[in-house]
Amino acid sequence: MTFAIHGLAVARGIAIGRAVLVASTRLDVAHYFIEPSQVGAEIRRMRDGRNAVVEEIQRLQASISQMNPKDTPHELAALLDVHLMLLQDVELSNGVTHWIKDRLYNAEWALTTQLEVVARQFDEMEDEYLRERKADLEQITEKVLRAMRGVASPLVQPLGRQGRKPSQQDLLLDDTVDVPLILIAHDLSPADMLQFKQSVFAGFITDVGGKTSHTAIVARSLDIPAVVGARLSSHLIRQDDWVVIDGDAGVVVVDPSPIILAEYGFKQRQGELQRGRLSRLLHTPAVTMDGQKIELLANIEMPEDAAAALAAGAVGVGLFRSEFMFMGRHGKLPNEEEQFQAYKRAVEGMQGLPVTIRTVDVGADKPLDDTLRDDAHLNPALGLRAIRWSLADPAMFLTQLRAILRAAAFGQIHLLIPMLVHASEIRQTIALIDHARVQLDNRGVAYGPVKLGAMIEIPAAALTLKVFLKYFDFLSIGTNDLIQYTLAIDRADESVAHLYDPMHPAVLRLVANTIAQGKAQNKPVSVCGEMAGDTTMTRLLLGMGLRSFSMHPAQILAVKQEVLRADTSKLADWARQIIDDEEPSNRIARKN
Ligand code: PEP
Ligand code: MG
Repeated sequence: MTFAIHGLAVARGIAIGRAVLVASTRLDVAHYFIEPSQVGAEIRRMRDGRNAVVEEIQRLQASISQMNPKDTPHELAALLDVHLMLLQDVELSNGVTHWIKDRLYNAEWALTTQLEVVARQFDEMEDEYLRERKADLEQITEKVLRAMRGVASPLVQPLGRQGRKPSQQDLLLDDTVDVPLILIAHDLSPADMLQFKQSVFAGFITDVGGKTSHTAIVARSLDIPAVVGARLSSHLIRQDDWVVIDGDAGVVVVDPSPIILAEYGFKQRQGELQRGRLSRLLHTPAVTMDGQKIELLANIEMPEDAAAALAAGAVGVGLFRSEFMFMGRHGKLPNEEEQFQAYKRAVEGMQGLPVTIRTVDVGADKPLDDTLRDDAHLNPALGLRAIRWSLADPAMFLTQLRAILRAAAFGQIHLLIPMLVHASEIRQTIALIDHARVQLDNRGVAYGPVKLGAMIEIPAAALTLKVFLKYFDFLSIGTNDLIQYTLAIDRADESVAHLYDPMHPAVLRLVANTIAQGKAQNKPVSVCGEMAGDTTMTRLLLGMGLRSFSMHPAQILAVKQEVLRADTSKLADWARQIIDDEEPSNRIARKN
């Protein structure tokens, strides 16, 4: 039966494929396709893993049977019986074999997929005792995965078995051919998203998350259709269901009828045509109709993203979110040499164009590790985040600063500091940068000059610009956090997403004022939050006087198109009226 689920549109485009439900905790499991000739070996690998666990349990049972019954809790023996029974369950092993044989999933993926299928059946059981057996099922799956670990050498393939996108025709005629896979999860962390970059999935849907959560931001950078905040989707969608993601409308269609499928196929082709048209602007300089040169920069998460930035025509990197290099490392942070090499790769990747490296911004919805989520603190977004975290651990911060300064010997680097708000924090930060230089001098290690910038992303900073303009060479407005903190809306919470309003007059005033004050002092101001890549905001930002925008590479050409059509001499008055309006969003909708 066809039905639709509404969520938040985070990354544009249409994806059509089969659902793969993955528990958030299972994302680290390798997902790749095997060749048909490997099916037998893969099934054997899974069976060997399972048999190893069966033998381990049987050994335990044997040793228990030799113990004094008084010393062995009855529950332990019963638990081992249950685990053995589950491991030998025919439905489980037939299911796993099906995913390997018919879908060519690797053994780990097949096992966790079947786990989701069976776990759901457990969830629906009336009997509480049986329902609770789900935890046992998860435990034995974990054991089998562990037993298999080290045996495989996963090769991640881009899309489909031949890395080919199926045509709509394929999809309508034959659904056994390679079809894109859509990941469905309750939640995905920003670190999960990095794994996504090398995965086989063509799109994803999550139950939770806001439009500018970091998960959504990375999805946008991957340029794959995604919908977040589609509550209950991981319960309503079943393994292997056909789903359509409409990333523009924030809608998920489950089990679409052939007519709906054809309609979305048409939309998908329209999107591709539109991208083709935009690509013609690649080499056109971003200059407005009245001759204003506009700087279009890229936001990146990894040094390797520099290639996408150049390919999209970016004239530099306006925001390198360095924290992504710090995530998912089980608390072991990258050392100076590793960071230096990474920053150097980014600089060299940009071939002489400037790279703005933001010092680490972890905390809030960007935990270092999934296991280290900051649940202990009630308001992590207001807690030890970004520069606060860096200043709390000067040794770690100095390591990063030295690595950045050293990389600056190889190209133009701008050093950007997130979440500053107090003058004392500014002075402390600058003192540590000076200290990092002294440390490098003492070691006789070469380093280069950097321009120093501050992110304006807390209202208090936007209201005390004088001190920022005194100490910094440039400013970069982080609208994602500026909106969050001005309106008191958690950017990652889908339940208040409707109140997260970039067009709120208070937000617009803070942005406009920052741009104007920067201009008055001759200090460059850029916007690097999601607002910069939103084409409905381009003319308003130009009207406010903004001349530097930093966004995901995938958004650059669409924004450039807006720039080419704009006449800034006519936009300034209009922008002033919009800012003064009671409900600017209504007016901007009319103008656009
Ligand atoms: C912002 O807050 O707008 C920003 C660019 O930084 P981040 O999204 O990483 O918090
Ligand atoms: Mg921010």
